[in-house]
Amino acid sequence: MNASTVGKVWLIGAGPGDVELLTLKAVRALGEADVVLIDALVNREVLRFVKAQARVIEVGKRGGCRSTPQEFIERKMLQLARKGLTVARVKGGDPYVFGRGGEEVETLARAGVMVEVVNGITAGLGVPAALGIPVTHRDFCRGVTFVTGNTRAGSQPNWQVLANSGTTLVIYMGLANLGGIVTGLRDAGMPAAMPVAVVQNGTLPTQRSVVSQLDHVVAAVALEGLASPALVIVGEVVRFANVNANRETQGLLRKSA
Ligand code: SAH
Repeated sequence: MNASTVGKVWLIGAGPGDVELLTLKAVRALGEADVVLIDALVNREVLRFVKAQARVIEVGKRGGCRSTPQEFIERKMLQLARKGLTVARVKGGDPYVFGRGGEEVETLARAGVMVEVVNGITAGLGVPAALGIPVTHRDFCRGVTFVTGNTRAGSQPNWQVLANSGTTLVIYMGLANLGGIVTGLRDAGMPAAMPVAVVQNGTLPTQRSVVSQLDHVVAAVALEGLASPALVIVGEVVRFANVNANRETQGLLRKSA
């Protein structure tokens, strides 16, 4: 096949939820797409930037359905691009942060399909900011660490190292294993009173959060009934949490008024 007849894939990060956190490049790429493959976690409002005649394909799990297998999605992208179509694969946050973007780019590049990644604001940056939490603050930490709390593969993060890193810990996919995370951090010597925030649907009108401390957070989250997708933030900077921090900019106060 002649390279010029092959389409292109845009791998787009849609940010954590609030549609205004899309980049200008994401908006342009969405507008160029003939086909849009949209992940479950992505706010459907992004579709307002898609051409009227574009085809939209839902991928990923919604409402408890099984997720669309990764191989199916990759095969679909190849198939569409080989027809000469421009494909937008839209993912939550940033495609390269716990988003399998690396795998997808590899597959597409190996097949000779042009692929371009459009950064998005990763949940680990956008969600703490929605609560007014600065992920770094020179009076309190030496940096920030993004880590997955998903233990499905059987391995645990090295809590000993993380607890003593002097960095804010931003834990993705950590809710299901919150008890294990707390135990790991406490065993590693982290103080019981270390501030912890858990945020569900950050930056969206449905945002809910619990601001607590290490030894109370499991009970507080259970009481509040927080569910996925949720981010866990551990560190002194959580003291800055203010649940109404970004409500004005998100138009949330206006909507509820
Ligand atoms: N690529 C994405 C992360 C995908 S992993 C990114 O860069 O943000 C999915 C996990 O991200 C969720 O389980 C949750 O931990 C976190 N997450 C994504 N969006 C979120 C949101 N709006 N609020 C809270 N957590 C979120």
